[in-house]
Amino acid sequence: MAIVSQNEKQLVAESYIMNVYDQIKQRNANQPEFLQAVKELFKTIQPVFVQHPEYIKYGILERITEPDRIISFRVSWVDDRGKVQVNRGYRVQFNNTIGPYKGGIRFHPTVNESIIKFLGFEQIFKNALTGLPIGGGKGGSDFDPKGKSDQEIMRFCQAFMTELSKYIGPDIDVPAGDIGVGAREVGYMFGQYKRLNSYQAGVLTGKGVGYGGSLGRTEATGYGTVYFVEEMLKEKGLSFEGSTVVVSGSGNVAIYAMEKAESLGAKVVACSDSNGYIYDPDGIKLETVKRIKEGERGRIKDYTNEHPHAEYFEGCNGIWSIPCDIALPCATQNEIDVESANILIQNGVKAVGEGANMPCSLEATDLFLENDVLFGPAKAVNAGGVAVSALEMSQNSMRLSWTFEEVDEKLREIMKNIYRKSVTCAEKYGYPGNLVAGANISGFLTVAEAMMAQGVY
Ligand code: NAP
Repeated sequence: MAIVSQNEKQLVAESYIMNVYDQIKQRNANQPEFLQAVKELFKTIQPVFVQHPEYIKYGILERITEPDRIISFRVSWVDDRGKVQVNRGYRVQFNNTIGPYKGGIRFHPTVNESIIKFLGFEQIFKNALTGLPIGGGKGGSDFDPKGKSDQEIMRFCQAFMTELSKYIGPDIDVPAGDIGVGAREVGYMFGQYKRLNSYQAGVLTGKGVGYGGSLGRTEATGYGTVYFVEEMLKEKGLSFEGSTVVVSGSGNVAIYAMEKAESLGAKVVACSDSNGYIYDPDGIKLETVKRIKEGERGRIKDYTNEHPHAEYFEGCNGIWSIPCDIALPCATQNEIDVESANILIQNGVKAVGEGANMPCSLEATDLFLENDVLFGPAKAVNAGGVAVSALEMSQNSMRLSWTFEEVDEKLREIMKNIYRKSVTCAEKYGYPGNLVAGANISGFLTVAEAMMAQGVY
């Protein structure tokens, strides 16, 4: 029997990964965000294929990068003037090897198949990292909720769910919120699902607490982000106490990341929306941000009306020029490029935690890692949201509700576990201290092993 050297195994693994990437690139040439997410994973998983050459024969990479199915549909709805509007809806059911498809719904004018596929692809590994039985999916529409009346939002959500309802179910596919989709939109979609089918609490998560939602779900992604970063800091003898924090965005993830960071003794000095950012050297007054963004659905600029000592700047990138110890990008994809990363590093940033999905470009991520900035990747850092969504599914199945404290305790434990798994896998597979690699490998192995066990499909 021929003995294969370690070097040969590495070459075989490397050429397999490169060949699969070339095929994916050809097949998805016009999907840059999806290709970016695939590339990020592929950069780190070569050692897995050295240890598990059988994955090559079983086409694990070819299968895991091709969604089980993509559903695309017309959403026709009537605006307040009586005019019919048409948007495009999507649901990507990526992989259900370890549980029903699970992932949010995004309403934003930039939504297209590439965006939904990148989000759905990352969701597979993020969900696996939580240790809970949930597969990966994502959905959305190019509908822009900005400037729409409450009635228009309701009619759109009802039209969207009328079609989506054919493909989802508590044991099939369980959507939740994301950008542009919060408790209000989930409520309208849930109502429509119930009208078309029957009352099935577990069909959506992020519901209102009065009708099957979980306490702590609203806070989960933001709190989870801070819990994860807290673990990274601890390892280096650092903490949030007394540190200066910059958070981008002022939506669901950003608001609760700010709340938890402040409660741990940090000073959050800046946050943003898609128009610009505010800088308050005395520390952001979160009640004002919550009222403007959650209550009035207004613009972050309005903050300075009440706090005239704070400054408002047009444009989003400038927020990263504010010196800080900890940067938490919590708005959207690719918001930190190489230039912003360089400025953050020059200003002495110690830790970056990706609250949003893929907020740092591949090059920016490499720069942070090369400069020994503690770096928490999105798949691990923002997994708290989907973890508590899975806890909502459990409570719905059991017909009971846990207290806020119980949910928060479970969330904290899950985030600590994700951190430990990422550290351990990074170490074991030759990337000590690299949590990007650790999280990728840990999530990937969980799904790959289950795919091997379930046979080719
Ligand atoms: P959200 O409540 O809709 O808030 C998004 C925030 O980001 C808003 O303040 C929005 O500003 C801002 N924003 C959007 N595009 C921007 C841009 N190009 N530049 C600067 N700011 C921009 O959404 P979210 O739920 O917080 O989601 C934020 C990120 O976290 C997304 O990447 C999402 O995929 C990820 N995530 C969310 C969850 C969750 O549970 N919600 C879980 C995991 C990951 P405007 O008000 O001007 O639109």
